[in-house]
Amino acid sequence: MDIIVQKFGGTSVATEELRKKVASKVVATKEAGKSPIVVVSAIGRRGDNYATDTLVNMATSVYDGDNARDLDIIMSVGEIISSVILSNTIKSMGYKSQAVTGFQAGIITDNHFGDADVLKVDNKYLMDLLNKGIIPVVAGFQGVTEAGEITTLGRGGSDTTAAILGEALHAECVEIYTDVDGVMTADPRVVKKAKVIEEIDYEEIYQMADEGAKVVHPRAVAVAKRSNIPMKVKNTLSDSKGTIIIQKNHYLRKARKSLEEENMIRAIAHKSNISQISVFFDDNMEDNDILMNNLTKFQVSIDLINFFTDKKVFTVDNKDLNKVKNILEENKFKYSIIKNCSKVTAIGHKIRGIPGVMGKIVRALSHSGINILQSSDSYTTISCLIKEEHIEKAVNALHAEFNLDK
Ligand code: ASP
Ligand code: MG
Repeated sequence: MDIIVQKFGGTSVATEELRKKVASKVVATKEAGKSPIVVVSAIGRRGDNYATDTLVNMATSVYDGDNARDLDIIMSVGEIISSVILSNTIKSMGYKSQAVTGFQAGIITDNHFGDADVLKVDNKYLMDLLNKGIIPVVAGFQGVTEAGEITTLGRGGSDTTAAILGEALHAECVEIYTDVDGVMTADPRVVKKAKVIEEIDYEEIYQMADEGAKVVHPRAVAVAKRSNIPMKVKNTLSDSKGTIIIQKNHYLRKARKSLEEENMIRAIAHKSNISQISVFFDDNMEDNDILMNNLTKFQVSIDLINFFTDKKVFTVDNKDLNKVKNILEENKFKYSIIKNCSKVTAIGHKIRGIPGVMGKIVRALSHSGINILQSSDSYTTISCLIKEEHIEKAVNALHAEFNLDK
């Protein structure tokens, strides 16, 4: 049986007209002799009646205390509603279909409410449906613990559901449908000349997602990579080819030698709402320990970090800023904060150690009058922290510098 998982996000199923488009894509897959498994997100986005944020808000506006278990119950409802409506749309077109909750689909998770990890999948329920020629429409983003508690897989987790089911049912492909033509070289709202990337490596897309490109959830990419299932990112509203995500073996064999090689940088990602914190003390074990242990204890995750003899500089997500301030005040550290920072990241493959890449980036940014507050590199990325007000200019400058406009 050739199984194809097709995942449709909240905006793809927002109206009856759109749901008909979605259903006809699914039906076309069935007619082509494949066995589609559909995964859906909650209908619409913030403000819409059954969108996840709306459901959360309904609960937290009454009580906003420690509530993760119950929030998972209310959040799971959004996807369940969506699965029934889309399944009915498919049925109305004369095909056999059935709505399936994440629990019925056999998705077993740990009990980390709000951000659960999938432990295993019992694929029997879905296999039975497929064997009967029924198109399952699975509610994304949810699972159940061994003890029967309902969980969700972290925001944006329907992508993860799709990848997990692709793996458990040995699908030939996992298709992620969205409202753009595929994975782009940069956010098309920021860079007018952004292009669709036809083919990309799991690692590159993982880095893009991790650095703020809202394409596919990084966890879903990790699952697809480990089971080596190709993923496609396609547009619900067009028939464009989209982007295929695979393991690009030639990268592994060929060592890169120079900057001039084509496509060294594949995309420019960015994210905002970051603060840079400098803590001033001369290097000593005691202060280092106090700082690091407290950040761990209060679960503050640090991104960029540089230790100098007289100061420690790191970045955190703005949502953690108050926690950090409390730690610094309580331990009487001297510090300064730059709020409203953004991080722009060039993503490629085997870029560390290639002479001149960093130089190119620094040049492009400084010619646009942008100061670099901090930077970091890895085998696949180079990131610069800058002031948020410069982000649009920065992304465009780097996009042009690495010839992604062409
Ligand atoms: N509806 C969930 C969310 O908004 C899951 C998803 O959309 O993938 O996070
Ligand atoms: Mg999403």
